Amino acid sequence: MNASTHYRTHNCGELTEKDIDKEVIICGWVAKVRDFGGLTFVDIRDRYGITQLAFNIETNEALCLKARGLGREYVVQAKGKVIERSNKNKNIATGDIEIEVNDLQILNESITPPFTIENDTDGGEELRMKYRYLDIRRPILNERLVTRAKVIKAMRAYLDERNFTEIETPVLIKSTPEGARDFLVPSRMQPGNFYALPQSPQILKQLLMVAGMDRYYQVVKCYRDEDFRGDRQPEFTQLDCEMSFVNQEDVLQTFEGLTKYVFKEIKNIDLPDIIRLPYADAIKYYGSDKPDLRFDCKIIDIDALDAIKNNTFPLFQNASSAKHIVAAIVAKGCVAMSRKQTDELVDYVKMPNRGLSGLIQVKVNEDGTIKSTIDKFMNEVQLQEIVQAVQAEKGDLILIAVEKESKVRKALGDLRLELAKKQNWIDKDKWSLLWIVDFPLFELDEETGAIIFVHHPFCNIHPDDVAYFDSDPLKCRAQQYDLVINGAECLSGSIRIHNKELQDKVFQKLGFSEAEKDERFGFMVNAFQYGAPPHGGCAFGVDRWVALLTGADVIRDVIAFPKNNSGRDLMMDAPSVVDPKQLKELGINIQ
Ligand code: ASP
Repeated sequence: MNASTHYRTHNCGELTEKDIDKEVIICGWVAKVRDFGGLTFVDIRDRYGITQLAFNIETNEALCLKARGLGREYVVQAKGKVIERSNKNKNIATGDIEIEVNDLQILNESITPPFTIENDTDGGEELRMKYRYLDIRRPILNERLVTRAKVIKAMRAYLDERNFTEIETPVLIKSTPEGARDFLVPSRMQPGNFYALPQSPQILKQLLMVAGMDRYYQVVKCYRDEDFRGDRQPEFTQLDCEMSFVNQEDVLQTFEGLTKYVFKEIKNIDLPDIIRLPYADAIKYYGSDKPDLRFDCKIIDIDALDAIKNNTFPLFQNASSAKHIVAAIVAKGCVAMSRKQTDELVDYVKMPNRGLSGLIQVKVNEDGTIKSTIDKFMNEVQLQEIVQAVQAEKGDLILIAVEKESKVRKALGDLRLELAKKQNWIDKDKWSLLWIVDFPLFELDEETGAIIFVHHPFCNIHPDDVAYFDSDPLKCRAQQYDLVINGAECLSGSIRIHNKELQDKVFQKLGFSEAEKDERFGFMVNAFQYGAPPHGGCAFGVDRWVALLTGADVIRDVIAFPKNNSGRDLMMDAPSVVDPKQLKELGINIQ
């Protein structure tokens, strides 16, 4: 490279002992200036690494003084010779060398940044979001964005090899039902009319199958106006896929292949085949449709034991008439928990969203004795029966719940996660991947009691359950599947209905009137009359994937410009009020 015609010959992460004696030009941001009287060292950083510049007051006073005057985050260009460092730093790739600088240009100055640009920064999250461009200078963040690009590249490579075509779909559309609220965009040309931003390209990808495109994918933004529960963003990225002439097995195999490919490319991990767990079992044993199986701790039903059935303890006695179940989990090695610790567990399951009245505790002491919190009602034989049924061992604590089934499963499912967190049961190097299959097609809305869809209204019925569709729709399973990684839902999909009559019937069951159905989905159902092929697909949550693969705790940490927990972009200060003139053009009055 001709040094005089370029800003830089090398980046800040690549010079090593092999480059000693080379004349180089590098550019970067000033991370640190250290002044040792005669010698001054400046660390400059770019996204590839950090390189040390060296200045000597004896050999070039003016240049050394210039270096001493550099402020944090100044942008500089340094020319000089690569020399061996006397004080090597084994922690960084360039730690064996430094640049003996003979020319230093300040390309731009910087005012003092509001937090230190280091992985362990002193900036709080809101401050870092406001100055996201500085936050992204921190190596941990820019590395995550680089990994994000690699994950997406690997996904595309896998799909491109297999006849999938990436097709863009519009952002200004009509509502697609994914169970969330739509973001709306007012139309200026048709006042009073609104576009909806896609909650997903669901309908459009299905129409691409009707159109004969056979295999589609798209890395696509989706928009859902939800309250900020958990780790969500109002706009997020999906890898959205659809295939024609496939059954559930074809889809699972295709995307299991993609999953293995991405893990190999990004983490160099050879994943074993992914286990499959029916939804009903996931709920029964783990109280969740996205169980984390990096640790065991199953929910075990114990109502059938003599120790429970023939017990005079009122909660057990009334269980069957109250339609309550009795179930337990084993907290491995937790027998020595203090009263305070077990009280915390009890408080945890009593919280309103779990709603248990308490936990019955059975301790299997190290000396083999067994003690319970209801010893008055339990003799030795009964305690032994419980211990054996749940396969508890010395040192274990058994936690028993009695309540309505749904509450017991949810509360014990949450409790197993809470215990895992508190007791460090999760090996961070371990991965838990599983397919959840056979989701129910419908469920009851807790508030209104109406039948609602579980995933979206286009999922096909499980072939074994077609007979119940009219008589007992809640018993019908769907051909729907999720991929769960370390307890997080990372993909969701289904085989679709491709027949107009069945789609009409599902809309009817969901309580859509003819007019509503025509207005919202008429174009789709019409399309099904022109030879819709059997089809199915799925969508990966790209942000969640990248968070898992980079070890980020929340998806905001893998999104370049995320929103905060109240849906605000703190950097741009959006959403914000708009010019009254704009509102007038749109025919909108703010109340
Ligand atoms: N559109 C669905 C979703 O966003 C995914 C799918 O069924 O393909 O969850």
